[in-house]
Amino acid sequence: YNIRPNDINKAISRTLFLLENQAIFQNIEIRKNLAPCLPPVPTDIQQMNHVFMNIILNAAEAMEGQGILTVTTVEIPEKNRISIEISDTAPGIPEDILPHIFEPFFTTKEEGKGTGLGLSLVYSIVENHGGNITAKSDVSQGTTFIIELPLSNSET
Ligand code: ADP
Ligand code: MG
Repeated sequence: YNIRPNDINKAISRTLFLLENQAIFQNIEIRKNLAPCLPPVPTDIQQMNHVFMNIILNAAEAMEGQGILTVTTVEIPEKNRISIEISDTAPGIPEDILPHIFEPFFTTKEEGKGTGLGLSLVYSIVENHGGNITAKSDVSQGTTFIIELPLSNSET
C-alpha cells in the first residue's frame, strides 16, 4: 500500500468520467453529491479506484443499464471519518443473500459473467485502510453501499 493524503471526490469523479461514456451507462443518470470541502483522506488511491469501480460497475449491471446512480461524500467530524455512499435503483438484494455478498466467490451471475471476487476484494481494501463497508438493500428500492474511512493514519 502506498498511502498518501488523497482527494476522494476527485477520485470518484475520475472513475465516473471513465465509466460514463460506456454503453451500459447511456441510460443511467449519475447524481453526484460531493462534500465541497472534504479533507484529504490517507489512502492508496489505486486501491480506492478499484473499490469505486467495482461497486459502480456492479450497480450498473444490477440496473441493467437503466436507473439512477447516486454518489454522496460527507465528512463525519465527530468520528474523524468520511463516508462515501453509492446507491442504485436496481432491484435490491434479497435479505437471505445480503449477508453473503462480501464472501469470496459468491455470485448470483450466470457462469462466466461474474467471479464473485469483486466485493471480497473491495472489503479487504477498505478494512486494510482501517475503514468499514456495509450494504443496505431494499428489494423494491435498490442498494446502498456505505464506506467509512478514517481521516487519520492511526487506525490504518
Ligand atoms: P460478481 O459481480 O462477480 O457477481 P461481486 O463480488 O462483485 O461479484 O458481487 C457479488 C454479488 O453481490 C453479485 O453477484 C450480486 O448478486 C450482488 N450485488 C453486488 N452489487 C449489487 C447491486 N448493486 N445490486 C444488486 N446486487 C448486487
Ligand atoms: Mg462484481
